[in-house]
Amino acid sequence: MSTELAKLTYHQANLAIKEKRPLIIPFGTQEAHGPHLPMATDSYCAECLALEIAPLISGLVAPALHYGITNSLFQYGTASNFSKPVYHAFVQELISTYLHQGFNKIVLMNGHGGNTESLVECARVLSVKFQALIIVVDWWEVTRPFLEKYYQGEGSHAGAEETAAILHFLPDLVHHSEQIEHEGTYRQPGYVPYPMDGTIIYGNDNTPSVPDLNEKKAREFMEDTIKVISEKIRKTIFFYTQRGIK
Ligand SMILES: [Zn+2]
Repeated sequence: MSTELAKLTYHQANLAIKEKRPLIIPFGTQEAHGPHLPMATDSYCAECLALEIAPLISGLVAPALHYGITNSLFQYGTASNFSKPVYHAFVQELISTYLHQGFNKIVLMNGHGGNTESLVECARVLSVKFQALIIVVDWWEVTRPFLEKYYQGEGSHAGAEETAAILHFLPDLVHHSEQIEHEGTYRQPGYVPYPMDGTIIYGNDNTPSVPDLNEKKAREFMEDTIKVISEKIRKTIFFYTQRGIK
C-alpha cells in the first residue's frame, strides 16, 4: 500500500484510519528562494521529508498544501500570500477534516516560518477538541544542531539547510547560479525593509549558513535530519499511546 493518502482507494484509506496510523500533512508556501532554488522550496522540503519519515513511523502522507503566508518576499516572482485569518481558518478546517474522519495522530510538517503561528494554534485547539495528538514540526529548527555541525552557521532562508534539502531530494531543481553571492542579506533586529533586500536571508551576519552545493554533505545532513525528526515523533507517539491516546 502506498504511503501517499491521495493514491489510496477509499477502502485502503478507511483501513488506515481503522489502524490508527499517524498522518503527516506537509505545509509550505510559494516564495523566492535565491537564484538557485525553486519557488516551492518550502512545501517540497516538507513533502519530501514527510515521504521519508512516513515509513519510519508507520504513517501516511496527506497531499501537501503548497500555498501559505508570505510577507517580506511577496513581491518577488509568483509568491502566494493569504491573510492570517483566511489561512488559519482554512488550515483549521483541513486538519479538522482528517480528525473527523478518525485520524488521531497528526503531524503538521511545516517548511515555512510564516505558517508556524497558525499551525501551532490549530494544534493546541484541535488536540483538545478531538482528544488527539497533533505535533507541529518546523524541520529547520529541529535540525539546528546538525546545521551547526555540518555548516557552522545559524538558521537561514534559502541558505545551507534548504539548499541541502533540495539538493538531496530534488537535485534537478537546483540552479548552479553565480548570482548566489549577490542575493544574500541578513535580518538585522530593528531594520525591516519591505520587500526584503535579498532573497537569501541569514539570521546572523557573523556566521551565515551560506548555500553549499556539496551533494555528499547535503545527503549526510538530511539523513541526520530525517533520523532526529522521526525519532522524536516516534517517542512522542509512544508516550501518548502509553497514556491512553490510541
Ligand atoms: Zn524556505
